[in-house]
Amino acid sequence: QAAEAHYTARNLESRRIYNEAVKHLPGGNTRTVLYYDPFPLATVRAEGARLFDADGHEYVDLLGEYTAGLYGHSEPAIMAAILEALQSGLNFGSHHANEAALARLIKLRFPSIDLVRFTNSGTEATLMALAAARVYTRKNRILVFEGGYHGGAFSFAHGDSPVNAPYKYLVARYNSVESVDAVLSDPTNAQDLAAIIVEPMLGSGGGIPGKRLFLDHLRKTANTLGAVLIFDEVMTSRLHSGGGLQSHLDIRPDMTTLGKYIGGGMSFGAFGGTEDIMSLFDPRTGKIAHAGTFNNNVLTMAAGRAGLEKIFTPDAALKLNARGEALRQRLNQIATGSLLKVSGCQSIMVIHFTLTPEEHITCPQDIADDDKALSDLLHLYLLEHGYYIARRGFIALSLAVTDTDLDGFVKTIQEFLTQHQSLV
Ligand code: PLP
Repeated sequence: QAAEAHYTARNLESRRIYNEAVKHLPGGNTRTVLYYDPFPLATVRAEGARLFDADGHEYVDLLGEYTAGLYGHSEPAIMAAILEALQSGLNFGSHHANEAALARLIKLRFPSIDLVRFTNSGTEATLMALAAARVYTRKNRILVFEGGYHGGAFSFAHGDSPVNAPYKYLVARYNSVESVDAVLSDPTNAQDLAAIIVEPMLGSGGGIPGKRLFLDHLRKTANTLGAVLIFDEVMTSRLHSGGGLQSHLDIRPDMTTLGKYIGGGMSFGAFGGTEDIMSLFDPRTGKIAHAGTFNNNVLTMAAGRAGLEKIFTPDAALKLNARGEALRQRLNQIATGSLLKVSGCQSIMVIHFTLTPEEHITCPQDIADDDKALSDLLHLYLLEHGYYIARRGFIALSLAVTDTDLDGFVKTIQEFLTQHQSLV
């Protein structure tokens, strides 16, 4: 409470903006994940890896727009591409060359993708991938995992929730071969399985990497049952050399969903996969219509192309990811003996307060004891010291973050642990 009172006192303009927003938006919010108590900061400007709020404070942005902000806030090549596209006029209602250019760049990174289609968000990409799987297999059931998040309408934090109503979901435990086999031991489930959709690392679900054995098992199970294996790499596509976890693990899903940074920081989603599945979307033969006014919006296509072509090369991806892994290890090292554990993989990580050792965090159930009050306290502490992360501890490094920024962050976490020794 003292921390919240202190936060309020130093963020009066943000509070004023929030109080105005509450009159027009439910809870003052149009994006649930951005809310936190007592009220969220209002940002007025961003540059590189810096955010500036309405009360004149400056923050190192370590949230990186939940992985979409990979390029930072003002990467020159991205800005130039957007400005150039702007000068040719906004959306045309017709084809243009950057669509195929961006599709080609994506295919180069994801050998499992023969053909790709664009959407406005990762949520839509998931929606279309599931639709394709249903039409392709003529089956209805979808195997999903507890803690899985595939977009606003596909959140499995609480199992088969009412917002997911139109599909018949079978919910299994993440990283558990036994749980998958148990669900599919019911012959009706097995025979009617259209798709398995899985994040190769749970992102929103806590930064929990999938085990090779588990993901391999999903590949084999989908093959045996004639189901479509969908890897949701909306968050994880940036990992390793930029070809996602599938490239690193050498597991070929039938379909992949993408989003976030690949649109260069603009609204973006994509789904792709094998030629026989994706041909369902061929308008000449048209089994599935997939429209969407802004699917090929000129700013996204241009920014996305510039990003993959000029900035986030495989080498740049490897370097950023090595820096992320080093940061995660440093944090875990200074936190040894405390409740603070940092899970995740490379440039994506999540801070937890749990008794479970970091190497034993394999599914959301392993961090059921995650102490939310401590996460809240750390979040307010970091904001006060100029570091912006998600309330639930999510961090995604951008290319704009410097080593000095990261050193300062580690030092601040260390100070937090020292000051709150009795709690952590
Ligand atoms: N899939 C995963 C794994 C995600 O993390 C997200 C967003 O966080 C989505 C899908 C949905 O993407 P969008 O927010 O662009 O709809």
